[in-house]
Amino acid sequence: MSDYDLAVVGGGPGGLATAMYAAMRGISVVVFEAEAFGGQLINLYPTKPVTNFPAHAHVLSRELAMRLAEQAASFGAELREWEPVEHAAPSAEGFVLSSAGQETTATALVLALGLGRFTPRRLGLDGESRFLGRGLAYRLPPIEAITAAHAVVVGGGDTAFDTALSLQQVADVTLIHRRDEFRAYAHSRQRVSEAGLEVVTGGEVVELLGGDHLESVVVTLADDRTVELPADLLLVAIGQVPDMSGVESWELGLGGPHIEVDSTMQTARRGLLAVGDFASFPGKVRMIATAAAEGSTAAASVERLLRSAN
Ligand code: NAP
Repeated sequence: MSDYDLAVVGGGPGGLATAMYAAMRGISVVVFEAEAFGGQLINLYPTKPVTNFPAHAHVLSRELAMRLAEQAASFGAELREWEPVEHAAPSAEGFVLSSAGQETTATALVLALGLGRFTPRRLGLDGESRFLGRGLAYRLPPIEAITAAHAVVVGGGDTAFDTALSLQQVADVTLIHRRDEFRAYAHSRQRVSEAGLEVVTGGEVVELLGGDHLESVVVTLADDRTVELPADLLLVAIGQVPDMSGVESWELGLGGPHIEVDSTMQTARRGLLAVGDFASFPGKVRMIATAAAEGSTAAASVERLLRSAN
């Protein structure tokens, strides 16, 4: 007998909705999420308002993710956040998953892998690894933990702008962007301009200097001059790179960014289903609402599968 009727890998909207609808049907379900619940909602758009989720004209991404997780838990789903699945394989009774040094078995498996895990894009400079955690960061640390006096933020997207605005509460901030046009929303640009932040366009960080800790960065400017800026904190906010490489070694025949499913969310392998951005079928629409709907379909399929197995 399996530990759970259903294991869900991925705690974005599709995975959490699957767990919620499955638990509602009395299916025992566990969800594994490698990072914080929310998937792309958290990794790509943490503070962006979602305006197209039915009956919610305006809800913050992070809040939507938390509500989905709470709703799934309230129906009895077991939620395991910050627990990456390291390996998954078929077993006699269904599937076996390895995570956090233990194995979990489940009769059915729903893959809600989204675009995979996200890793921060790096600048590609010598010393980037050496200074990581010693003055260099890819994500904003808790603001109360920041002791830096001079912060440099690299990037021209909303993450860089939000980060710079947050850092400004505790440090001098210079924002450096490689072009003179920004990807950040007009609203963010206006806030940065009103806050009087120092913004360098056409600038590129080319060298990191310091001893045990980062002390300064060398920047080339649009007019080809090179300057050294004091920086006891360098926040690199130049985007995230989706990464599916881990799952390709699982014994499930996965490869590529998607898996084909039928109208019941079932893949070619019995008991293996997929929802959300990872699932592909003709006419697919990639939205939070459709990921949630696919979760409902998957839960119904799993219920049928469990009945037919008994
Ligand atoms: P992004 O929008 O992809 O911006 C990445 C920025 O980094 C771009 O300005 C890019 O420059 C720059 N960049 C990329 N590679 C670089 C390199 N090697 N060296 C120097 N600069 C480099 O990423 P993001 O800011 O993380 O945002 C991701 C998504 O989340 C966006 O859709 C954004 O709107 C959303 N988001 C929204 C909010 C919000 O609503 N408040 C907050 C955070 C994120 P180029 O422009 O020249 O390519």
